[in-house]
Amino acid sequence: MIIIMRADSGEQQIHAVEAKLKAMGMGAHVSRGIERTVIGAIGDERKIDMEALEVIPGVDNVVRVMKPYKIVSRDSHPENSIVNVKDVPIGGKQIQVIAGPCSVETQPQMDSAAASVAEAGCRLMRGGAFKPRTSPYAFQGTGVQGLEMFRQAADRHHLPIVTELMDVRMLDKFLKNEVDVIQIGTRNMANFDLLKEVGKVHKPVILKRGMSATISEWLMAAEYIAAGGNHNIIFCERGVRSFETYYRNMLDVTAIPVLKRETHLPVIVDPSHAGGKAWMVPALARAAVAAGADGLLVEMHPCPSEAWCDADQALSPQELATLMGELGAIAGALGREV
Ligand code: PEP
Ligand code: MN
Repeated sequence: MIIIMRADSGEQQIHAVEAKLKAMGMGAHVSRGIERTVIGAIGDERKIDMEALEVIPGVDNVVRVMKPYKIVSRDSHPENSIVNVKDVPIGGKQIQVIAGPCSVETQPQMDSAAASVAEAGCRLMRGGAFKPRTSPYAFQGTGVQGLEMFRQAADRHHLPIVTELMDVRMLDKFLKNEVDVIQIGTRNMANFDLLKEVGKVHKPVILKRGMSATISEWLMAAEYIAAGGNHNIIFCERGVRSFETYYRNMLDVTAIPVLKRETHLPVIVDPSHAGGKAWMVPALARAAVAAGADGLLVEMHPCPSEAWCDADQALSPQELATLMGELGAIAGALGREV
């Protein structure tokens, strides 16, 4: 951290900054220039409150030099990290497509969906038992019973399951039903108490980007999970709010190479909640893989028009199978595979 003093600041004010840094357990290195004095703070600045320095009379500006995140940063781990979900690696050469319905509805629906997911060549399945709906009057999910239906359907095809956790009080039920990947949805990216709790377990976590979150806020949300000891984190870009009304969210493709540079953890993309329409999903999915995504989270329903939730954006089983073929060709061109 660098503290830049005002041009009219005096020795007394410089000493006040040095004393404050010392009280914070930091060292200080004072450089007296012709016009300005600059003080370099020595030590781990992540624990320092910038405002406590900014308020000292004579201080013009305080600038951080370290990244505020540590464990998730590529600086701390230059190699790509692979998150293993049972025997399925996420973040390696193989691109993983996680497919399934928006929500768990009935046992026959899940049985049929699981068969189609496996048949298309996907190795993981998604499905929400607890749904974060905009309206309290809309279908809220099938809850714990949904987790059981999901587990039963997926087990028949040896598919690990991905499902959203909204309430920390449900974590035990998730563990009891052997949920393989805990999904933290866009609306909970900044629910820090929830992040702390999933940080204490060792289940892989898919952390979706908050709908208006900056990339650094998102990285800091992951750092909350990592700081608790759980480093099995997968970032999921799912589109951000924008001025555009033609589609549901604006897929931030740029975030993919940025995150791959900033963090060693895997990055996947949800083209379904970005586009919001099934016909947009293949193009967005292809773009995500071309841009370096390690996987996709895609909504697929045995009969899209009958889906209880997000019917407009669900691929049919046939559309998923076709998409898998297209992704294979793109992955091959990049030295990867699907
Ligand atoms: C979902 O994946 O079903 C979901 C609700 O996504 P998001 O949190 O991105 O809206
Ligand atoms: Mn959905």
